[in-house]
Amino acid sequence: MSPQVEFKGYALIDPSKWSDLKLVTFQPKNFQPEDVEIAITHCGVCGSDLHTLSQGWGEPKLPIVVGHEIIGKVTRVGDKVSGFKPGDRAGVGAQIGSCMKCRACKSDYENYCPSEIETYNGEYPDGIITQGGYSTAIRAHERFVFPIPDEIESAHAASMLCAGLTVFSPLKTYGAGPGKKVGIVGVGGLGHYAVLFAKAMGAEVYAFTHDTSKIEDIREMGAHHVIDVNIKDFAKPFSHTLDIILATRDSYEPDTPLSDYLSMLWVHGKFITVGIPNVNNPLPQLHPFAFAGNGCLVGGSHVGSKKECLEMLELARSKNVRPWIETLPMKQAKHALENLNANRVRYRYVLTQDIN
Ligand SMILES: [Zn+2]
Ligand SMILES: [Zn+2]
Repeated sequence: MSPQVEFKGYALIDPSKWSDLKLVTFQPKNFQPEDVEIAITHCGVCGSDLHTLSQGWGEPKLPIVVGHEIIGKVTRVGDKVSGFKPGDRAGVGAQIGSCMKCRACKSDYENYCPSEIETYNGEYPDGIITQGGYSTAIRAHERFVFPIPDEIESAHAASMLCAGLTVFSPLKTYGAGPGKKVGIVGVGGLGHYAVLFAKAMGAEVYAFTHDTSKIEDIREMGAHHVIDVNIKDFAKPFSHTLDIILATRDSYEPDTPLSDYLSMLWVHGKFITVGIPNVNNPLPQLHPFAFAGNGCLVGGSHVGSKKECLEMLELARSKNVRPWIETLPMKQAKHALENLNANRVRYRYVLTQDIN
């Protein structure tokens, strides 16, 4: 029997101070025969953590420990676990459960299961509230645990499990690859991964940013074209060009020129949004004329399945994809969250374990 891990994490207790996290102990899920327990070494800081803590997506269940880009070492496995053993390096992303029986779950679309359970602020059928990775340890059904290839270091693998997978899934689904032109709108945590993965998949990458201080970085990440969207008529030269546009931004103004973006799509091109703004911040209105010139489609995507995650990790391993990250000890989560809120991240924070 492996030693029991103590479940402690940095939690939000007082919602009036959204970035003030206090160390608490919490109750993990009841350990089941299919479960893997992981002692956490790293956890990425995702925009979801920020939206949840600052209540932009509604009121979280308090106290709450956020974090869903989790890497660590397996400390315990249930009798029915076949893919992991104690000592393995493993990770958990944004989803920690699903019904396992519905059509989505049986078709490798468990990320679209109507009964999906999120890694934090979710609830198991027995009433236990899920808590995330700004913590010592996590338990998960092995379907929601990912083996990490030896060649990918833990700090790099962490943010792949939400940010990376969230962009890899639609890139893969909509055919990013050689001969395809892919537009990336917004180059933050998700967008920088979209540039890296679209390039690694062999697509021609067009990155659209309003932040001119990032242009050199984005070129270095491998984008073939970097377009400053502050320039008037920026979309005109690219009319009828792009096969896919991945929109990673997570806020919109009523006058954001969405129809200009759609005009850059090739016939039946797809505009896929993966950033999720606050509930009071919808996409700008579109007139049907916006779809008439190219028959384009607008859609969304939600994280990714385990099958896609394993493909993404294999791509990252084989093409040596390395994210641009900054690491900080976990107790500095406040600093990381506030910088993320102020758009001062280049391009993802990863917290390292510091709880004794
Ligand atoms: Zn996330
Ligand atoms: Zn299901």
